[in-house]
Parts: sequence; structure tokens; C-alpha cells
Amino acid sequence: MRFITYNAKNFREIEYIRYLPPDTRREIDVVSRVIPFKTNNYVVDYLIDWENYADDPIYILNFPNRRMLTENQYGRVEHAMSGDYSDQEIIAVINQVRLEMNPHPAKQQSNIPVLDGEKLAGAQHKYRDVILFFPSQGQTCHAHCTFCFRWPQFVKDLDLKFSMREIDRVIEYIRRNGEIREILFTGGDPMVMSPAELSRYVDAILAAKIPHLRNIRFGSKSLAYWPFTFLSEFNEEAEDMLGILRRIVENGMHVSFMAHFNHPNELETTVVRRAVAAIRASGVEIRTQSPILNNINAGADIWAGMWQTQVELGMIPYYMFVERETGPYQYFSLPLARVYEMFTEAVRESGSFAKTVTGPVMSAAQGKVQIMGIVRNPATAERYFMMQYVRHRDYLRTFRPFFTEYKEDATWIDQLQEIPAESQIETRGTPVARER
Ligand code: SF4
Repeated sequence: MRFITYNAKNFREIEYIRYLPPDTRREIDVVSRVIPFKTNNYVVDYLIDWENYADDPIYILNFPNRRMLTENQYGRVEHAMSGDYSDQEIIAVINQVRLEMNPHPAKQQSNIPVLDGEKLAGAQHKYRDVILFFPSQGQTCHAHCTFCFRWPQFVKDLDLKFSMREIDRVIEYIRRNGEIREILFTGGDPMVMSPAELSRYVDAILAAKIPHLRNIRFGSKSLAYWPFTFLSEFNEEAEDMLGILRRIVENGMHVSFMAHFNHPNELETTVVRRAVAAIRASGVEIRTQSPILNNINAGADIWAGMWQTQVELGMIPYYMFVERETGPYQYFSLPLARVYEMFTEAVRESGSFAKTVTGPVMSAAQGKVQIMGIVRNPATAERYFMMQYVRHRDYLRTFRPFFTEYKEDATWIDQLQEIPAESQIETRGTPVARER
């Protein structure tokens, strides 16, 4: 199966595009200058319902539309494109808009590890037991999600990227940090690499034989965007790719394939189901994760359906994230109170196997914060969010419930005041009713 990429330059070659109204094509043109746009022939031919493209979740997941920018931002970019601006001036306008879109949420750049005074710019070490590695060849994906929080990595004109060609320094860093038990290959998508490229990294790790490094994780959306990666009748390199996974398992390490699925429609094709089976047959566990996104998957029934199908296919539901404050955030974000309601309803509806999922979780600057409930103090009738860190820079701060004020329309933790510890003790001393 030949991989055909469509992007801002050639999307008009997609057969279905000519049926879209001119306004819609123009919007794609304008917004794709700001938001990285990339799709491929699998997504276009297998996943999108072109009859209902405007409401189709996978179309929205890949194709930019004008509501992903503010009216002001859209107007400035469109004006620059249609005026007498030089190429440099257009790029300057586009970069200004991008910088307004909070390109580094949760202070990702402050997690860069240092070895012998040298920054390892292609890695992040936030939690004591896991290091993230961004192989330079994996800094793209088979298609780009319009909501993606890593969008600055795909944008050539912004100097905001992580990635590192060399694994050796990372291995040395892990060797000297005995608490690191896990390396997470991430990106972009590490599964866009050829097996030859990926095995260069993996074999270096296996050869290092670091006793405390026990787990390898791959964060990937390849099952949803290009399942042929793992199917040998469509791809002559598939067997080599599966061979890498088997090799890690045979070397006694645990491998977790962190599959990113945003909508049940991504699980419906025969090829994705066969790719899931092929990965599982290599001895690898597949855990699933996704943010909850307005306009794409905002519904308890959608999540319940997605988790049920994942479990039937042998995957383990793992995380429901809250959409981060970056990129076209205003288009995709949802109030935390609503997210919490959808999460609990979806878990209830899913049956016992989907209870492996943790959510809803915000990846904030200090760690991953889970919303545990909405509670009410009967004495004052005041409501609070109850939260806990399931991951924290300081691991001793995990799994300690705390309270924040409650706001119906808050979409991120930094919009909420934490209730000071002294008042929390008081609050705990009074009967606090779990409201929802
Ligand atoms: S697959 Fe992941 S990294 Fe790639 S664009 Fe989508 S969300 Fe971003």
C-alpha cells in the first residue's frame, strides 16, 4: 500500500475536495498556514464520511476549519494572504498568530535533562521513573491532529522543537539515574520511522543492558492513521517492525504500545483490527489514550463505545485526558464539570473491563491531575472540585486528594483557586457530600 501524504500544498489533489464549497477550500487554505495540516490516503479513503464531512469527527480531526482560529486571527492571516504582503511579512503574521496560541503549555521546555552540563534537548525527564525520548526521525505523524498540543514540533518556522539524533547520551543519562525504569519513545510518532531507524535506537538500548531500565513505551497513533505499518501483505517492512517489538520482549523488557484513538470510527476498519492483533501477537500490550474534545468525541456514549470496542479487541483503556490549553483550544476545550460527568457516565456504561482507565486527567506543569469528583459542603452549600495528582514531579505528592473552588465553566486547573490546606482540613472535618 503506497503512503500518499496530503498537506497545505497539495490537498486539492484529494478526489473529494472538489465537492467541497469554495468557502470551505479557502478556509483550509488560510487555517493550514497556522495549524500544521497533514492527512493521508488511508484517512481520506477509509475513515472519513465525505457525504457528511462537516460533522465527520475524523474530517475535523485532520482538516483545519476557520473556527479553529479566532475571528481576529483568521482575519489577519487572510488579509495578509490576499494583500500586498511579501512572503516574509506573511510568515511574520502567521508566526505571531502561532505565538498567541500558547505553543508551550505545561512548561514542557523546563523538563529537559542535563548530563555533564549539556542539555539533552531531545528528551524530557519530568517524573522520576520515566524519561521521554524524541527521536529526530519521529517528529512527524502519519497525519496531524488539528487539536495537537505538540503542534509547534511540526512547524518549521518556529524554533520550539524537541528532538535528538543521538541516543547514546540519553542511555548514559539513564545509566546514571537508577530511578528511571522506563523510556517512552514519543514525538510526533515514533512509528513513522522505518524499522531500520527504529531498531538503531532500540538495539542500542537493549545492548546497554541497564538493569533498572525495565519498560519501553511507544506513544503512537499509527494504528489509527496508518495500520499498514504492521501488516505484511500491504507493507514489506511490517515484519521487521513487528520483529523489533518481539526482540524487546525476548530481551525480558515490558513493552507497552500507547495507542492513540480519538473516536470509535477509527476502530471499525478490518485493517486496524488486524494490525491490533499483529501487535498483540508480538507479546506487546496495547494501552489506549485520548483527550476528550469538543466537536470530535464529546459524548459519554462515544467514549463508552470506544472503550468497549477496545476491550473486545484486547486493548486496555488507560487515559482520558482533558484538552490542553494550546493551539485551537477554544474550539476543542470543554468545561471540566461536563468532562467529569461524561467520564463517569462512560465508565459506568462500559462494563467492568473499562475500569482500567484513569480520567479525566490534565497534564499540567507539575504533573497529571485527575478530577476525582464534585463535592458539596452541606453546611455552606459551596461546591468544590476534588482532585489528585496521579503523577507529580515530586512523587510524594501523588494520590493526595485536594480541593479547588468550583466553577461551572472552568476548562483548566489554572482557572481554579486551590483551597488552602488549612481550610481543606476544616472542610474534611465537616461532612462533605459527593455531589456528582
Ligand atoms: S498523532 Fe499525536 S503527536 Fe501526532 S498530531 Fe496527533 S496528537 Fe499530535
